[in-house]
Amino acid sequence: MHRTWVEIDERALINNITALRGLLSPDARFCATVKANAYGHGLREISRIAARGGVDAFGVDSLDDALWLRQEFPSALVLVLGYVVRDRLDEVVAGGIHLVVSESETIRALELCAAARATTAYAHLKIDTGTARQGILPEQLSDFLSDFSSSPHVSLAGLATHFANIEDTTDTRFANLQFARFQEVRAAVQAAGYNPEWIHCACSAAAILYPDTHGTLVRIGISLYGLWSSDLVEVTTRKHGVPCALEPVLTWKSRIIQIKSLPAGTPIGYGLTEILKRASRIAVVPVGYWDGYDRGLSSVAEVLVGGHRCKVMGRICMNMMMIDVSAVPTISLEQEVVLLGRSGRHQVTAEQMAAWTGTINYEIVTRINPTLPRLVV
Ligand SMILES: *Cc1c(COP(=O)(O)O)cnc(C)c1O
Repeated sequence: MHRTWVEIDERALINNITALRGLLSPDARFCATVKANAYGHGLREISRIAARGGVDAFGVDSLDDALWLRQEFPSALVLVLGYVVRDRLDEVVAGGIHLVVSESETIRALELCAAARATTAYAHLKIDTGTARQGILPEQLSDFLSDFSSSPHVSLAGLATHFANIEDTTDTRFANLQFARFQEVRAAVQAAGYNPEWIHCACSAAAILYPDTHGTLVRIGISLYGLWSSDLVEVTTRKHGVPCALEPVLTWKSRIIQIKSLPAGTPIGYGLTEILKRASRIAVVPVGYWDGYDRGLSSVAEVLVGGHRCKVMGRICMNMMMIDVSAVPTISLEQEVVLLGRSGRHQVTAEQMAAWTGTINYEIVTRINPTLPRLVV
């Protein structure tokens, strides 16, 4: 029995994968983006289910995650989307891990490692087509192609870019501009005699709404977990009749560890920030900001107990918080509390929690403390 934990709905995850696979162009492979501990869901649990569900590849941010995936799934394509420090590039090469690159130094260091091992390093050249994040500018392409031609042990295995404005707008002009730049770079790469196998730019929103962008690999993150990239993407998907039903995979639970009746006028928690307006039953829950329950949820969030909505009272502490359970008819020690997910007719969504704290659903789930147990149900 756990005090605070995360439940992963295996059936929902498989259904999401099946729905998303159904949208992919015939040439496109499915890269499950499992960075940030699989968006807070649990890297191990999610990747094992996803591998059985038929994903072809895994995308991560950190080399350590990639090395674990390589061991667990020897035949899967494992792609590091983030930066690897140069003194660890030999581990990339030794593991046959694919790496997104956007620095000449990285390509030269990969060459040294691969040559010493008499093997091949697999690099995916990232193009900054308008995100101003990781990636080379299109005008730098010829310099980078020279790096590749002078690095015979480094294969230009992929070409990638990332959209800056695809989930927050229905105006597709900037995304179209980025895609056109990407296509130009791709043509120039091919004209120079390279033929990268993996062409990828689509995240969830592009994978669902813009099939033209699929290339040979789609990097699907948030929708795998049954969450929408934004309300706008969900609405647009419905409006265009795209058959993509998604179901949230994660439920976050805890338990009541103390119940007390307090009179009107009692201040609750640190800073005495909330005063009881009436006599109330207050329960203590062993969840705090260390667990990833943001302190910004103080006095605004609701949780579910026995199918009732209960308000968070006063400030969230490091490892505990208080809730008002006055409206719950029967309440007992160690009774379940749903922090995120469904209970009876009610649901607390990641989107609702994001609205309470002024962030996005991505941040709500990715920040759930990775040390909490993940149970597959
Ligand atoms: C996180 C990430 C994705 C996945 O985006 P979603 O919106 O979660 O599908 C795709 N590509 C890159 C480069 C990323 O960093």
